[in-house]
Amino acid sequence: EAKSAGRNRAAFYEEAMDEQVQNRHVIEAELREALRNPGQLWVAFQPLCGDAEEVLGAEALLRWTHPQIGMIPPSRFIAIAESTGLIEQLGEFVLRRAAELGAHWPGRTIAVNISPAQLRNPTFAERVFALLRETGMRPADLEIEITEGILLDDESTAANTIRSFRAAGIRIALDDFGTGYSSLSYLKRYPVDRIKIDRSFIAQLSTANASDAIVQAMVTLAHALDIEVTAEGVETEEQFQALIGMGCNTFQGYLFSKPLTVDDIHTRFAAPLPRVA
Ligand code: C2E
Ligand code: MG
Ligand code: MG
Ligand code: MG
Repeated sequence: EAKSAGRNRAAFYEEAMDEQVQNRHVIEAELREALRNPGQLWVAFQPLCGDAEEVLGAEALLRWTHPQIGMIPPSRFIAIAESTGLIEQLGEFVLRRAAELGAHWPGRTIAVNISPAQLRNPTFAERVFALLRETGMRPADLEIEITEGILLDDESTAANTIRSFRAAGIRIALDDFGTGYSSLSYLKRYPVDRIKIDRSFIAQLSTANASDAIVQAMVTLAHALDIEVTAEGVETEEQFQALIGMGCNTFQGYLFSKPLTVDDIHTRFAAPLPRVA
């Protein structure tokens, strides 16, 4: 009886926490707490694969395991972290984990998502360069993922930061490609090393004819501009084969691997075994 009352209380508490998680002030406070207790925050790495399913690198993805709430997805907290400035500390944490991994695996590309708020900070580039020197990671193995809309004008700090990254040999990828409204003009103004076709296009391959044409056009455009192209969110063999047929040659998605713990990505890098069905 006492036990079941305890269970009810726990269930009630969990429900209450669940509701509170919707509240940005709660998220902000809990995130500050998480930054003081780094065990809650960790970085997952999703393999980036070639057309023979070999592992070419990995994308760093921030994870938050809250002691009471459990996993809180980035979609619930990244925007809040951006608007409160906490993204700077979070981003630094992710970059450090990524650089530690990259330093161990020269030749593998390690991609990191960077928020507009980070790029607008005039000290950001210097801190990234310092981190590379400190860890020994080669600049050419680091890929900075940005989204359209970051670079609104040429004179901005963000544009200068991107230019100094490229000058240092760091790679730039345009994430969620095709979802913004300026994708094409963007490529003309800002040279990038890779576009990542948003997974909304991949999910509709072969079920919506227009998607096939659009993805084919993106792959062709990228190759014409000598830009690498990666399909995001590849989940089925059919999607994979369709993309291969279009000339796409790098892939991420659950078909190859979900995001992995750092131990598992080390294992994957050490022994790039074929995907297990
Ligand atoms: P993104 O950069 O486009 O990352 C890809 C997202 O797709 C990840 O979600 C990944 O887990 C998910 N994904 C990968 N393969 C598949 C698949 O086959 N199917 C499906 N349905 N999903 C797949 P995640 O980790 O929840 O991250 C969501 C977004 O949050 C990221 O989108 C990125 O914009 C942002 N994010 C994650 N980590 C960071 C970070 O460290 N800093 C910043 N600024 N943003 C981050
Ligand atoms: Mg990304
Ligand atoms: Mg993306
Ligand atoms: Mg995305």
